[in-house]
Amino acid sequence: MHSRFTTLAATLAVASVFLAACSGGESEEAAAEPTVAEVPEFEAGTTMAELAEQGTITVGTKFDQPGFGLENLEGDVEGFDVEIAKIIAAELGISPEKIKFVQTPSAIREEVIEGGEVDMVVATYTINDKRRERISFAGPYYEAGQQIMVAADNDEITGPDSLKENPDLTVCSVTGSTPAEQIKPYLADPGQLTLFDEYSQCADSLSNGQVDAVTTDNVILLGFVSESDGDFKLVGEQFTEEPYGVGIAKGDVAFCEFINETLAANEEAYAEAWESTAGQVEGAETPELPEPQPCS
Ligand code: GLU
Repeated sequence: MHSRFTTLAATLAVASVFLAACSGGESEEAAAEPTVAEVPEFEAGTTMAELAEQGTITVGTKFDQPGFGLENLEGDVEGFDVEIAKIIAAELGISPEKIKFVQTPSAIREEVIEGGEVDMVVATYTINDKRRERISFAGPYYEAGQQIMVAADNDEITGPDSLKENPDLTVCSVTGSTPAEQIKPYLADPGQLTLFDEYSQCADSLSNGQVDAVTTDNVILLGFVSESDGDFKLVGEQFTEEPYGVGIAKGDVAFCEFINETLAANEEAYAEAWESTAGQVEGAETPELPEPQPCS
């Protein structure tokens, strides 16, 4: 499911983009680590009390998405989602080295939360009611939207509607993702959609000419565009709303409220987290933390 080669190639490519950005005089600072709470106190029996007592937390994230969750050459993961997890862990008194990041492709996110294999999932994870049947979400901490990426020299595809107009065109997305569902009304034939486990596999297929387009959230695609050395571009406008939440065990209202309060109390760390990761991509604007949705 996960190709080491793909990850390595992606890592090298993204490293060169970041180096290029740095040589242009932009900041290359890694995110300043959030201040780790010294002896935080929580009501007994809560998830926060358990995690603080344990001194570690297991977080599901992506390992192949530049800017959000990408495994580097040392085997560490980097990105905005990783930094969001560090801000939450810090408030629990857990330092970044004590966070265990586990690779969590789109299709298994609910499953690993339900099975208790992770304490939370921070993985470009859209909040929606279908997923809320199985898990709960804190947040949103970011608002993305679905878009289309094509080869830079492709003038035929100008947005999702182009797929309906030409049934020979193919588009790639990821199993278990919202974009894989939301692209369906734009297809003339279900065979136009190719599904993989991870977006880096879609990006490789676009490079090889095996598919004509890739669809997922704009910010994920922008990470691939910026590492493509001018080979990929985005076309058309965003056509969905993808509010990113932190996935947690269903019904853990106290943990959800704790995460929302933590993010609201750390707006500076939030902005720095963005600027040192996804915000390095050209033209990216630092977001404002969105209003949280009610915890349930
Ligand atoms: N945000 C969308 C989702 O949660 C697409 C990105 C992803 O697959 O992680 O399904």
